[in-house]
Amino acid sequence: MAKRDYYEVLGVPRGASRDEIKKAYRKLAIKYHPDKNPGDKTAEEKFKEATEAYEILADDKKRQAYDQFGFAGVEGMSGGAQDYSTVFRDFEDIFGDFGGFFDSFFGRSGRGGKRRSSGRNTVQRGADLRYDVEISFLDAVFGTQIEISFSRNEMCPECGGTGMEPGSSRKVCPTCGGTGQVRRSSGFFSIATTCPTCHGEGEIIEKPCKTCGGTGLIKKNRRIKVKIPAGIENGKRISISGQGDSGSHGGPAGDLYVYVHVKPHEYFERDGYDVYCAIPISITQAALGGEILVPTLNNKRAKVKIPSGTQTGKMLRLRDEGIPYLHNGHKRGDMYIKLIVKVPERISSKAKVLLKEFSEVNGENNSPNPIRLSDLR
Ligand SMILES: [Zn+2]
Ligand SMILES: [Zn+2]
Repeated sequence: MAKRDYYEVLGVPRGASRDEIKKAYRKLAIKYHPDKNPGDKTAEEKFKEATEAYEILADDKKRQAYDQFGFAGVEGMSGGAQDYSTVFRDFEDIFGDFGGFFDSFFGRSGRGGKRRSSGRNTVQRGADLRYDVEISFLDAVFGTQIEISFSRNEMCPECGGTGMEPGSSRKVCPTCGGTGQVRRSSGFFSIATTCPTCHGEGEIIEKPCKTCGGTGLIKKNRRIKVKIPAGIENGKRISISGQGDSGSHGGPAGDLYVYVHVKPHEYFERDGYDVYCAIPISITQAALGGEILVPTLNNKRAKVKIPSGTQTGKMLRLRDEGIPYLHNGHKRGDMYIKLIVKVPERISSKAKVLLKEFSEVNGENNSPNPIRLSDLR
């Protein structure tokens, strides 16, 4: 799809001043904002288009590049407004000096129609939270459900997240006079820094809410159930969106990340979706062959045939007895069994006689040829 000229999008002449550009964008942003036009794809597109145009034209450098080289000059410079949370953060900058507008813009969801005072409250997404959990090897193989308990910041019910005592309001910050910045001079220089009293907001709360101390958020303990999918690997995380800290001033909640640590098994080891273990067999089982029962992940035993003349270290494969694929339980890895031939350390006198007889029948080689070590692995 061909892109429209940025000046055309905002409906301003090429020589428009910054103020004219701001005003034009403001008008379009109010008209096409997604919260005012829920589900309207055309409005959403127009909103994104206008935002992109504004991002370029409001910046002298970007505007110059665009004037000179067109879209090619500013490629990749705008955020593209894909993600609304980014857009909201951007708006905070863009409309920082519009005061009341900013509020009407964000005085939206989650407020239950409560009136908000004017001001430049910082709309912030809540923090993401991390929770670490340890589960057994077999729970990781077959999946499980756990209950976790953690504390997170939630909107203060007393003040509805405003941070103000009911009936009180905001007032212009006395330290910075509402600019959000203070100037400090050191020698010849004068440096502007964020106002320490209002943290750049330009306003302070007259009477902070007693319950939350003015933050609009309080700590709450929560218990939630978390489904651990079959096949999950050690160190992987499960993300649960919206279960992190609540956002401040109507911002979206953060996410909760549950990191899964898998305890090692007594004898099963995992490599991808395959599982390995070693099984000892006797010298006669190895020489004569036979059948043995080996444990499987399902807590059952599978019959396995040992061929006669089996050497120690031989690997047997049990197809589809491994770990279920994550999010595709129909497919499973394989199980590998390494056979270890165990020589008896103590034998009865009768066994000794039989082995001696075996040795005579078999004939012993007193001068065996060496084998390269790496050939044994
Ligand atoms: Zn201040
Ligand atoms: Zn409160």
